[in-house]
Amino acid sequence: MNFKCQNAQLFVPDGLPAEQALRRTTHMAIAAHQDDIEIMAIEGILVCFQQPDTWFSGVVVTDGAGSPRDDLYKDYTDEQMRAIRVVEQKKASIVGDYAAQALLDYPSAMIKNSAHKDPIDDLQALLRVARPEVVYTHNLADKHPTHVAVALRVIEAIRSLPEAERPGRLLGCEVWRDLGWMLDEDKVVFDTTAHESLQAALLGVFDSQIAGGKRYDLATMGRRKANATYFASHAVDVMQGMATGMDLTPLIQDPSLDIQEYVQSFIERFAGDVRKLIGNVQ
Ligand SMILES: [Zn+2]
Repeated sequence: MNFKCQNAQLFVPDGLPAEQALRRTTHMAIAAHQDDIEIMAIEGILVCFQQPDTWFSGVVVTDGAGSPRDDLYKDYTDEQMRAIRVVEQKKASIVGDYAAQALLDYPSAMIKNSAHKDPIDDLQALLRVARPEVVYTHNLADKHPTHVAVALRVIEAIRSLPEAERPGRLLGCEVWRDLGWMLDEDKVVFDTTAHESLQAALLGVFDSQIAGGKRYDLATMGRRKANATYFASHAVDVMQGMATGMDLTPLIQDPSLDIQEYVQSFIERFAGDVRKLIGNVQ
């Protein structure tokens, strides 16, 4: 695979040639930063883990240079930080048994500027070889601008593919803002009950972020527990862990759909629900 950025790479944990490794993919996550995949797309990792016929591939779009740092890493330069985050992402791909892990190495600023088309070309090249059935990316109501920009680039890349080459599902996942506010019937529910210790291991390899002062490991496992318990107020817990997603599939099936209006429709249904409930009990 030839990517546009000089230091971009495709890492294959089991050492197969790049295209052969990628062609196995059934589930793919495309995320902004190193560690986002393991926070948001755990369903895909778990569905594929140690299975002969399903394979998970990860794509990290940015270079991870600007992350906060502390503890062991407090004197690291941006370059050293970038290098350690690449190593951490490769470690996660080994722990999680991924088919392949792409690291596209774009500066955040370039992803947030839609005039830059190189990221779209790289994403299309990956999608064309991998042909995933399911793609996970950031949800469009995330509060991190780079996350939302990645989701928009993913939609653009998929929309430009011939219809027959588009994935069957595109799901927007939780990182910087969970989706608890969405109506339950609008949520895509991911069961994360299985392999709890593997989930913890996948989050734990990102030591530069966790020691950097953010307990993403505890927060993510806690969010999965909270989602499972707070999902349905009148039923017992049927899952021990849950992540939720926003279904973005209609946006890739119908490229004429307006992205802003599509997201606003979820927010409007939420607003209507709050209005109705207060009206019912006052
Ligand atoms: Zn991120």
